[in-house]
Amino acid sequence: MDTTASPPDLFDAENLALLTARAAFEAGADASAHPCHHALGELLTAFERLLRETRRLVRRSDRAELEMTQLNQRLQDLASELTHRATHDPLTGVFNRAAIIDLVNRHFATGHLALIVLDIDHFKRVNDSFGHPAGDRVIMGVVACLKQSAPATAHIGRVGGEEFTVLLPGHSAEASEHAAQTVRRAIASHDFGLPDGSNITASFGVSWLPQGGSFDNAYNLADEALYVAKRGGRNQVVRASASVALQSA
Ligand code: GH3
Ligand code: MG
Ligand code: MG
Repeated sequence: MDTTASPPDLFDAENLALLTARAAFEAGADASAHPCHHALGELLTAFERLLRETRRLVRRSDRAELEMTQLNQRLQDLASELTHRATHDPLTGVFNRAAIIDLVNRHFATGHLALIVLDIDHFKRVNDSFGHPAGDRVIMGVVACLKQSAPATAHIGRVGGEEFTVLLPGHSAEASEHAAQTVRRAIASHDFGLPDGSNITASFGVSWLPQGGSFDNAYNLADEALYVAKRGGRNQVVRASASVALQSA
């Protein structure tokens, strides 16, 4: 196959007509004094110029179309970047508070939902002892633990500075409590690489509400349970309904 062949010309038919007319014009050189011959010459010149101009316009329009396609793609990329920024936490990449509120309320419209709220214990100590960047690394480490140890269907969010949520659609209250314990153990045993070798723990509140619940109700219940977990000595899970500390070991 000849790969050097030029692409089909949009004006093939016009080119052919031009060539034929040019040949006829040149073959009739004897009749150059005839007004028709002169008129054909004029027509040929005008037609050639018209073709050149048209080709230039076609090229310009092709370029404009390409630019438009590229701009459109860029616009789509920017729109998805904007959506991502509006719904995700820049430090950890998980959902932000607004996105979690929206997700929770949407889940409650169709079914029951369990909400785990967790807060890092004595986090201020990390910042005070090792600096803010070390604190940021701990926050990212906690999110890594959440991603590794939470159920695959969980939605993870950062709803405050050192406070996170795990949404568990379709889970029972018992299963959610169990999931919270798994996450708690994952954090407590994770090596955060702090200069003094100390561990990080978190306290957990778990709430479960049937279809029709709301973020405010679910969050308040889980937050109250979390407060009980803090008062009870931290590094523990408390379920809202039972409000009983279940594990501190
Ligand atoms: P508790 O066990 O009662 O939760 O104690 P705590 O020290 O964890 O809680 P406290 O509310 O006293 O301190 C939370 C600290 O978290 C204070 C704030 O400066 C810090 N913080 C909030 N957001 C960030 C962040 O994005 N990065 C870092 N490094 N620190 C943060
Ligand atoms: Mg807090
Ligand atoms: Mg804290």
